[in-house]
Amino acid sequence: MTVDHEALRDAARTPYWLDRPDRPASRPPLDAHAVADLCVVGGGYSGLWTAILAKERDPSRDVVLLEGSRIGWAASGRNGGFCAASLTHGHANGLERWPDEIDVLGRLGRENLDAIEKALTRYAVDADFERPGTITVATEPHQVEWLRELQGEAPGSTFLDRDAMRAEVDSPTYIAGLVEPDDTALVDPARLAWGLADAAESLGVRIHEHAHVTGLARHGAGLDVRTADGPVVRAGRVALGTNAFASPVRRARLYTVPVYDYALMTEPLTAAQLDSVGWRGRQGLDDMTNQFHYYRLTSDNRILWGGYDAIYHFGRQVRPSYDQRPQTFDLLARQFFETFPQLDGLRFSHRWGGAIDTCTSFCAFYGRAYGGRAAYALGFTGLGVGATRFGADVVLDLLDGVDSERTRLRMVREKPLPFPPEPFAWAGIELTRRSLAAADRHRGRRNAWLRTLDRFGLGFDS
Ligand SMILES: Cc1cc2nc3c(=O)[nH]c(=O)nc-3n(C[C@H](O)[C@H](O)[C@H](O)COP(=O)(O)OP(=O)(O)OC[C@H]3O[C@@H](n4cnc5c(N)ncnc54)[C@H](O)[C@@H]3O)c2cc1C
Repeated sequence: MTVDHEALRDAARTPYWLDRPDRPASRPPLDAHAVADLCVVGGGYSGLWTAILAKERDPSRDVVLLEGSRIGWAASGRNGGFCAASLTHGHANGLERWPDEIDVLGRLGRENLDAIEKALTRYAVDADFERPGTITVATEPHQVEWLRELQGEAPGSTFLDRDAMRAEVDSPTYIAGLVEPDDTALVDPARLAWGLADAAESLGVRIHEHAHVTGLARHGAGLDVRTADGPVVRAGRVALGTNAFASPVRRARLYTVPVYDYALMTEPLTAAQLDSVGWRGRQGLDDMTNQFHYYRLTSDNRILWGGYDAIYHFGRQVRPSYDQRPQTFDLLARQFFETFPQLDGLRFSHRWGGAIDTCTSFCAFYGRAYGGRAAYALGFTGLGVGATRFGADVVLDLLDGVDSERTRLRMVREKPLPFPPEPFAWAGIELTRRSLAAADRHRGRRNAWLRTLDRFGLGFDS
C-alpha cells in the first residue's frame, strides 16, 4: 500500500532522527566470551542510563552492554523527544493509582529531569536539550473545561483563551490552551542515545552492537548471558532494558504488549512559513483527545507531528514492516494541514512508526529474576524518554539490594495486571481503541466498555 497524500510522496520511510550523517559507526560485536560484574542488555535509554549510573555508583564495577542491533535504533531513536518529568505517564494516571505517594512521585520526577539536564552538561551530550515548556490545546468546546481541571493539577500553569492561544501558536482549530512552563524538556532523541553511549564509554563501559541475547542461565552466584552468535558473557548481575521486545525473562512478557505509534517530519519551514504559525516560544504541543497528537519544532525548524493512531498487531508481534502504515500517514498528513492550513504546500521529508511497550498501568514496572541476579524495568508506554533514567536507578537498587526511597514506593513494588493470552488480548485492545475513538467523536463520553476498564483501574485517559 502506498500513501495518497501528495505531501507524503517523497517522504523517506525511516525515522528522521536516525537518518543523519552524524550517526556513529557501528561498535564491535561480541566476538569472544567475556566476564563482567554487570551485563546490561539493550542499548536504548534504559540500558544506557543503567550502564552510566552503575559506573557513577561504583567506578570499579566492570560493565558490558549488549545491544542486539544498533544503539538507539528502536524507540529511543524514533520518539517525539518530549522528555517529561512525570514518572507515571502524567499526573492524572499517577494520582488515580498511587494517590498516597503522588507528591513523592512528583518530586522524584522533577529531580530526575534536573539530573538528566545536569548529566548532559557534565558529559557534553549535544542533544539539543531545552526546556521551553509545553502547551496542551483545546480544539472542542467541552475540552476547555478539561483544561481548567488540568490547570488545577498543574501549579505554575497558565490558561490561554482563544486569542492568547492563537497569539502564541496560530491554528484556526485552537479555542484555548494551557501552558506548563517547566514539566517537560525537548531533546533530539537519537543524539541523546548516541551521546549517552559516548558518556558510558568514557566511564569505561564496553559496548557491543549486533549482540542479540538469546537467554540467561545461572552460573554459581551469577548468570551466563548467551548471545545468538555464540559468545557468552559471564556476569555477576544482569540489567534488562529490552522494552517492547521479547524479554529474556519469560514471565515479564505477560505484562506488556507492543503498540505502534507513528510520526511525520516536515521539511524545514522558511522564515515566512514559521512566521505564519508564530510559535516563538518553541513549546512542545499536544491536544486533548484520547487519540492525541504531539508536535514540536526541531532545531532547524521542521515540525514533528505524531500520535493519534495506536495500532496493536495480533500475537504481540514486533516486525520492521509494521513501522510503515500508509493509512495512518495519510490521516496524520490530513490532520496536520487542518491544524496549519497556512502551511499548505509544505512537504514531509520522513514518515515512520515504532513499538511502544504498553502495560496496563501505563507506566514502568519493575521486577527481579534468577534469585535477584537479574532485574528489569519495562512498560514505559508512551513516556519513557525521561522516566527511563529513574527506571535505571531502580534497577540498580534492586540488583545491589539497596533499600531506598525508590524501592519502597508502591509504584515500584506493584506489578500491573498482565494481558490475557490471544485472542483475548487482541480483542480487548481493539475494542478499547475503537471505544476511545468513539469517545473522541462524542464529546469524550466513555461507553460501557471504557467505564468497566475505569472501574478496574485499566482505563486510559490521555
Ligand atoms: C514513535 C514513538 C514516539 C514516542 N514519543 C515519546 C515522547 O515524545 N516522549 C516520551 O517520553 N516517550 C516517547 N516514546 C517512548 C520512548 O521512546 C520509550 O519509552 C523509550 O525510548 C524506551 O527506552 P528503552 O531503552 O526502554 O527501549 P528501546 O529504545 O526500545 O531500547 C531497547 C533496546 O533493547 C534491545 N534489545 C531488545 N531485546 C534484546 C536482546 N534480547 N538482546 C540484545 N538487545 C536487545 C533493542 O534492540 C533496543 O535497542 C515514543 C515511542 C515511539 C515508538
